[in-house]
Amino acid sequence: MKTRSLIAAALVYALGASARAASIQTPSEFLGMSVGADKTIADYRQILAYFKALDAASPRVELEMLGKTTLGEELFLAAISSEKNIANKKRLQEIARKIADPRGLSEAETKALVREGKVFLFITCNIHSTEIGASQMAMEWAHALATAEDAETKRRLEDVVLLLLPSINPDGQLMETEWYRKNLGTRYEGGRMPWLYHHYVGHDNNRDWFMLTQKETQAVTRAVYHEWFPQIWLDEHQMGQTGPRISVPPYAEPVDPDIHPLVWRDVNLIGANMAFRLEQQKKSGVIYSYVFDAYWPGGTKNTAWWKNISGLLTEVASVRFATPVRIEAGELSGGGKGLVEYGTQTNFPNPWPGGTWRLRDIMDYERIASDAILESCAERRADFLRNALARARDAIATFDAKDAFRIPAAQRDAAGSARLAALLVEHGVEVRTATNGDGYVPLAQPYGRFVEELFTTQRYPETRLVPGKDIVRPYDVAAWTLPLMMGVSVERTTLPAGLSPWKASTPSLPLEGTAFALAPGSPEGARLVNAGLRGGQVLIARAAVSAGGREWPAGTVFLDGAAARAAAAKAVPGQSWNAVPAPPGSAEPLRAPKVGIYKPWAASMDEGWTRFVLEQYGFEPKTLDNKTVRAGALYAAYDAVVLPDVTKEVIGTGKPRRDEGAMRYFPELPAEYTGGLEKEGAAALKEFVEKGGTLVALSSSAEYVIEELGLPVRNALARSADFAVAGSLLRAEVRGDHPVTYGLPADVAVFQDEALAFDTAPPGPEMERRVLASYPAAYTDVLLSGWIRGPEAIARKAAAVALSYGKGKVVLLGFRPQHRAQTPGTFPFLFGALYWSTAK
Ligand SMILES: [Zn+2]
Repeated sequence: MKTRSLIAAALVYALGASARAASIQTPSEFLGMSVGADKTIADYRQILAYFKALDAASPRVELEMLGKTTLGEELFLAAISSEKNIANKKRLQEIARKIADPRGLSEAETKALVREGKVFLFITCNIHSTEIGASQMAMEWAHALATAEDAETKRRLEDVVLLLLPSINPDGQLMETEWYRKNLGTRYEGGRMPWLYHHYVGHDNNRDWFMLTQKETQAVTRAVYHEWFPQIWLDEHQMGQTGPRISVPPYAEPVDPDIHPLVWRDVNLIGANMAFRLEQQKKSGVIYSYVFDAYWPGGTKNTAWWKNISGLLTEVASVRFATPVRIEAGELSGGGKGLVEYGTQTNFPNPWPGGTWRLRDIMDYERIASDAILESCAERRADFLRNALARARDAIATFDAKDAFRIPAAQRDAAGSARLAALLVEHGVEVRTATNGDGYVPLAQPYGRFVEELFTTQRYPETRLVPGKDIVRPYDVAAWTLPLMMGVSVERTTLPAGLSPWKASTPSLPLEGTAFALAPGSPEGARLVNAGLRGGQVLIARAAVSAGGREWPAGTVFLDGAAARAAAAKAVPGQSWNAVPAPPGSAEPLRAPKVGIYKPWAASMDEGWTRFVLEQYGFEPKTLDNKTVRAGALYAAYDAVVLPDVTKEVIGTGKPRRDEGAMRYFPELPAEYTGGLEKEGAAALKEFVEKGGTLVALSSSAEYVIEELGLPVRNALARSADFAVAGSLLRAEVRGDHPVTYGLPADVAVFQDEALAFDTAPPGPEMERRVLASYPAAYTDVLLSGWIRGPEAIARKAAAVALSYGKGKVVLLGFRPQHRAQTPGTFPFLFGALYWSTAK
């Protein structure tokens, strides 16, 4: 976006090049602060203002607004290149698009594209808001590139179009800078915030890149896979304080074998140049092949690997936000992959000796690494374009022209099927439709390997650093099989003839009539039910019924005309309901559950995700902090209280469990943000349930509830040394005849990331307990996708349990039903528990 004022433009054109450069202020001059100095931070709005000024003053810089963030900030990228390239942007974008998808081009045409094209280098900074250095460095670097008159820099800008995002999470950048400034000079200076640095997802904003649930992820995905098609992507992060100073590629093990090897050849060459330039400039503590693997597709540039983009990561040692830290030599440690003991190795030839480390150091290291990647992209312009072309061609050639996945439109969750197809389209994948509405995904396309990765099951490779010792554990989760996570059936098939480009099917919602029946089991149904509850009358059948000449299962919801009209406004593709003459007489009124979500001061991403999912589906949850819970009287205000996946220690006391042997200091927070539910909070929850409330515990919080309420349930795996699981999909057998599980299939994939499964015992006559789901008896059937050790221990154990307690109810879900909003297939467990809370 060009917003150059007439006067500025006149000045720019009137003056010579060097005078023009001198007229462009540095970030420090423009902002009236010493950027990069100790304890000094420019916030996101200042950064945006500076880039707007650069855009106005320099023909080498052009801002592009990517959209609004969750809290309404402008997300932007700065395209930085030679004046000629900026003016020629549309043509260069067209070339990049063709290189990313060369189908139908002749050899001569692709050669011409390589000759004419520029490397598009995409650099994202500061996705994690405490990792603040790169957001500051970006301003200084952009100024240097906009004003440089040396031949080398000008040549680089001739060969490369840099697409620079100073912050990929503006909301969090603002929250963290505000928190930091507020606490400067106090004992909390540079300490953690008691809430997430994203309105919903905190650090998990870098786990969203295959599901695309957040606005920022969606906006950047549009820019990358629909508009710019960069060949190289660098994501700049920060890591802990007591290890190496910077980690550059090559990555650590394991590497996914389905990613094109030329990705790693590009990445390794660039990483080597980063290390080379850092060492030349006397920067110690540079490491590669350290900790960060290349196997999991959830992060920014990770997802890009399967889409033929060479994605790189740098991680620089942190300070206390912008406050220097002093690290004693003896505090420096290895311990991770690639550096078992802190000391000289081939991948770490010059260890940092310890001392003071400041924001300026972070920015200097990042600046050298950034210049080095720009240099490599210029040096290797034609090679990198040829490699990108080869990756796209090989991806297409991996599959037969007729290889495809079919996403049947008619299935148990038709809305989920439409949603899966729409997600692929958002990713830039080509999807087609048959006349019956089925989606077809041809695999012989540039992102075919990406589709195959997400549509098939994972088996985590058991690599060992030392023979006979433990395997290298996954960096994050070990499973991302979308159809299983979404509860959608797909099949590998042959592409039929007569397909058209994919188009979302419109919901099939008749509105003529007096009553409408909506079958249970689709998570998307909750949107309709919740909207309907706010617009008219909604009834639920607690047993199988017949209506309109058809049988309906237990859990079917009946909406009157007013409710149906309100619901139709929230309908998504693939949804349908049927008009019936009247709801069955046995159906009971359903009302909107009043839901509270517990929020600890040790910021919980699962709390944020839970809130996000419930809001998306129209539940309108309220947040309950420690003080609110401790104050009691919850039953008057809430039907259901949800405890997200938070450990019993954090719920009880506000402090995480101290790992045996690990030296982890948990910095203190201002008094109003300390403590947990304590005794009063536990008593208040107990009273809430005794009076008739429903307490829903997700994953590890179940242990808190079991203990505080003295339930006849225990974690069967608590002391099982042989059992381990890493973010994987496990098979659970569901009993669908309970309000919590209405409409769910007999077999579901549940997302499990900890050693948690229940043993139950028969209670006394005052209590009812029902096992809602359990793991299969045949333990070899337990793992669907990912990695598990010792599955014998989890066989036959309960995954979900419902209990009566006093006049109320308890639902224990011993897995992650709404994990990162990536598991719609199991959202109905949570939604069902909330609707059950309003039942008599
Ligand atoms: Zn990070």
